[in-house]
Amino acid sequence: MIKTNNLMKKFRTNEVETTALNNVNLEINEGEFVAIMGPSGCGKSTLLNILGLLDNPSSGELFFYNERVDGYNERQRTNLRKENIGFVFQSFNLIEELTIYENVELPLLYMKVSSSERKRRVNETLDRMKIMHRAKHFPQQLSGGQQQRAAIARAVITNPKLILADEPTGNLDSTNGEEVMNLLTQLNETGTTIVMVTHSPSDADRSHRIIQLFDGHIVTENMRQKL
Ligand code: ADP
Ligand code: ADP
Repeated sequence: MIKTNNLMKKFRTNEVETTALNNVNLEINEGEFVAIMGPSGCGKSTLLNILGLLDNPSSGELFFYNERVDGYNERQRTNLRKENIGFVFQSFNLIEELTIYENVELPLLYMKVSSSERKRRVNETLDRMKIMHRAKHFPQQLSGGQQQRAAIARAVITNPKLILADEPTGNLDSTNGEEVMNLLTQLNETGTTIVMVTHSPSDADRSHRIIQLFDGHIVTENMRQKL
């Protein structure tokens, strides 16, 4: 599903160059659940952003379903993202001025889905993410765990093939974190590919494979179980 060849990412600020990714070669198959771990600053978020077409590599190749996408322009990247990828962040990133229902509905509005179909899908997804009872509330009225469940609902409403999650339990206590991990595991079991950055060994335990990054390159890959 995803393949990278010699992926490099350099940032330059005030004459100082940082190599955030250094020759990253990886392959992620459809249906996999992959955890990316490593110390702070080793390049995890940079890698996730490039895999999610939010950022371009400095050099190297990125393939999505055998199609080379690293040279895509902004419009092509946006289209590919909208059709295939859902994002989950540590800080939830819900829109404070919109209710939970409206937040989850938003991607369908962008896709011009009809109002009856939107209603059906939003209700089904809120129910699946166990957050229906908060549909009319605003994000700040919810606990962290509820906000993350709403954020996952928003990420999956378009049925993306790939979910990219950046420390999805980073701001949650262990009970809420476990609930969020249960939802991600269920999504993976129903066919969604998941790539997750995490510091939590117990979250990484849910994955099939752990990729360890250090100073911008992959140091080890551990297969946890056969698919
Ligand atoms: P991690 O997610 O593992 O903590 P990051 O991918 O955020 O690491 O960062 C990797 C390296 O790239 C760090 O040295 C960081 O300071 C640098 N970096 C990340 N984003 C930028 C940016 N936009 N501009 C300059 N340097 C950056
Ligand atoms: P869950 O859906 O996880 O069972 P609850 O509905 O019991 O969670 O609420 C979880 C947290 O959200 C509680 O700490 C509760 O005090 C808080 N909460 C519930 N309703 C509101 C509200 N309308 N405004 C602000 N906080 C609320």
